[in-house]
Amino acid sequence: MKYISTRGGIAPIPFKETVMMGLATDGGLILPDHFPVVGTRELSRWQGLTYPELALEVISLFVDDISRNDLRALIFKAYESFDHKEITPLVLTGNYYILELFHGPTLAFKDIALQFLGNLFSYLLREKGATMNILGATSGDTGSAAIYGVRGKDNINIFILHPHNRVSPVQELQMTTVPDANVFNIAIEGTFDDCQAIVKAIFNDLAFKARYRLGSVNSINWARVLAQVVYYVYAALKLNKEVGADLVHFSVPTGNFGDIFAGYVAKRLMERHIGRLIIATNENNILSRFILEGKYSKGTVVQTISPSMDIQIASNFERYLYYLFGEDCSRVKAAMEQFNEQGEITISKEQLAQARRDFATASIDQQTTLETIKEIYKQTDYIVDPHTAVGCAAAEKLRSSLKNGAVVCLATAHPAKFPEAVKQAVGHFPPRPESLKGLDKKNSRCKVLPANVDAVKKYVAENALK
Ligand SMILES: *Cc1c(COP(=O)(O)O)cnc(C)c1O
Repeated sequence: MKYISTRGGIAPIPFKETVMMGLATDGGLILPDHFPVVGTRELSRWQGLTYPELALEVISLFVDDISRNDLRALIFKAYESFDHKEITPLVLTGNYYILELFHGPTLAFKDIALQFLGNLFSYLLREKGATMNILGATSGDTGSAAIYGVRGKDNINIFILHPHNRVSPVQELQMTTVPDANVFNIAIEGTFDDCQAIVKAIFNDLAFKARYRLGSVNSINWARVLAQVVYYVYAALKLNKEVGADLVHFSVPTGNFGDIFAGYVAKRLMERHIGRLIIATNENNILSRFILEGKYSKGTVVQTISPSMDIQIASNFERYLYYLFGEDCSRVKAAMEQFNEQGEITISKEQLAQARRDFATASIDQQTTLETIKEIYKQTDYIVDPHTAVGCAAAEKLRSSLKNGAVVCLATAHPAKFPEAVKQAVGHFPPRPESLKGLDKKNSRCKVLPANVDAVKKYVAENALK
């Protein structure tokens, strides 16, 4: 299996190189040069596998430059840290199945990919006798998942910027109480946008980037998408086996389009078993507007109670455009250039019809999100977090258009990560899982710095792995 860029500007590369490259060097996103076909016999064999075993099969389809034994070790180790033996259990609440993706160390679905990616980075660096320094900005969930993905690894240091006093107390403590010496939290006296701008400026200083071997963990890394394909396959096979569902629809709370794009890949692998993919958005609904109106156009970011989806430009969307444009790199490149200049991409009638065959969508406002948390709790005693609630509400709204088949709503975070919104909806805080108990009594470490590129560079230079 070789990999290409959506913009056509790189020679085909093997998997290992995609991991280290992150964003393609021509500014595009990396994709496999074809989708493998998974036959019926293969699928029925997969039905008996545990989650890590299935992950090995699915990931192996796309990785042919790491030995099976080594890949197995990387995958199995990644899911040891999960607190549920099924890794991503399915629970039935009311009309829907909820796929709980929050059993990893930081209680959000990002652990599923970042536990794997951390091991993969460390493995590839060891092979080369190299080290790296990861630099990233977070508004909450990604930073803690990335930190937990690489904590304690001797060939990686990680620097995560968050806006000082502007992430939730749980999220801040999850990051700053990690005691490992390779973890550096930086609280920036500014906003999340300031943090992102600083990280971008540092990555654009190519000499600095090369000198400190800076790496990134953001959601455009193909290995992250790949790890997420697994739970779609897992849920579809499980529902087929246990309740005889031939077709499974997924509702996905969406921000950067990484998670739902993994669903698209799963659908390409097992076309007949996966039905509609629902793009569920909050008020930041650029993707919903795209499916409804055929126009991808930037709006302004609105802050909501589902903050991990408060995104206007979905960084993984370009991956889907590649398929929508018939795998024509020059059309993708032209469209992205147009978007950067004019803030808008329009598509043809035929393309819009295709996009609507691939995805359904609903945009859910905050009032409806709160009512959904309350309603699900009232009817089933189950508490969903606000991101998950957006997905559940979207599934409810589109129920009549999903004819046959089971509906799975992805639960992307544990409700205890967003206690205030839950309390507002159901009248009390959600129960705290074991990993959050006593968090506020642990030692917390964090460097507060002004929103200034040079100050951050100086700190990174002083603490980077040489
Ligand atoms: C990151 C995140 C999302 C959005 O996922 P994308 O891959 O960016 O679409 C949804 N919910 C939670 C809880 C998240 O942390």
